[in-house]
Amino acid sequence: MPQDIKARLREQLRKRTQEAYNRKDGGNRFKDYFSIAKMEGINKVKFSKGEHLFDIIPYEAGEHDPNCPAGEFTYGMDVWVHMGIGASEEQVLCLAQYKQPCPICEEVKIRREQGLDYDADIKPLIAKRRNVFNVIIRKNKEEEAKGVQLLEISYHFLGKHLASISKDPYGDGEVTFSDPVDGKTIAMERTGVGAKDTGYSGHRLVDRRKEVSNKELEQALCLDSLVELKTYKEVKELLFSGKSAPTDDDEDAPVKSSKNKICKATKKKIGEYWDEYDVCDTCDFNIECKAICNGSSMGDDVPY
Ligand SMILES: [Zn+2]
Repeated sequence: MPQDIKARLREQLRKRTQEAYNRKDGGNRFKDYFSIAKMEGINKVKFSKGEHLFDIIPYEAGEHDPNCPAGEFTYGMDVWVHMGIGASEEQVLCLAQYKQPCPICEEVKIRREQGLDYDADIKPLIAKRRNVFNVIIRKNKEEEAKGVQLLEISYHFLGKHLASISKDPYGDGEVTFSDPVDGKTIAMERTGVGAKDTGYSGHRLVDRRKEVSNKELEQALCLDSLVELKTYKEVKELLFSGKSAPTDDDEDAPVKSSKNKICKATKKKIGEYWDEYDVCDTCDFNIECKAICNGSSMGDDVPY
């Protein structure tokens, strides 16, 4: 067999093997919002229970970062993602953050207007806030040797804490923890695993034992170039794949209008006021109330 054909054969076989691996759990079922092809060969960090130490490595943003102009340096991607969409329960980037109409957000609005049940029919469709970072693990030598890896995590488990611990308590600005020269290493502890018990605590910035090297900086990935941005039509098809939207005629859909619920503590209607009372922080209706007040379908995150 000629060498060039043999090389092509080997490359294509490698691709087919990779595709079969990606389908091993049932095709696109539970697929995340990254492009399978672009993620080939990229390590994703999985934090086990216990203490973790890592550096966040900056990179140049591409065309699909909803917050940072293309060509400017940034340290992470902050995105809204609809989880568990359609029969295959895929993760889909909310198109609204790219200033485009989003069929899922539109469906959320329709369901709200129909007065469908918040927990059963609306909440699962509301976009969740997720963060993606280039990181180098510093505690474990074996992991450190892998170089830059991709960390995808709920905003509530890391980004929210970073915003707070990077702020100087005397009001002297923020610590630029991702600075390659005088940045900080991030420490945090995973306190539990599993859908219900996952949690992180003890977030803090500690002095780095070494600078981020040029080689490590060069390994940083343009994170927004790795995502899969679906079209309006593709998202709509996925949303209604295998099931139809609940309607007022649907016998199984409990009809309850969240707009008419009354908050026991403030005696106000849900969605009338949010975050204006001390009790708002611990109120059972906090998320729902916030979403109605903001007129947005983007909600709080579900830990996982
Ligand atoms: Zn959306």
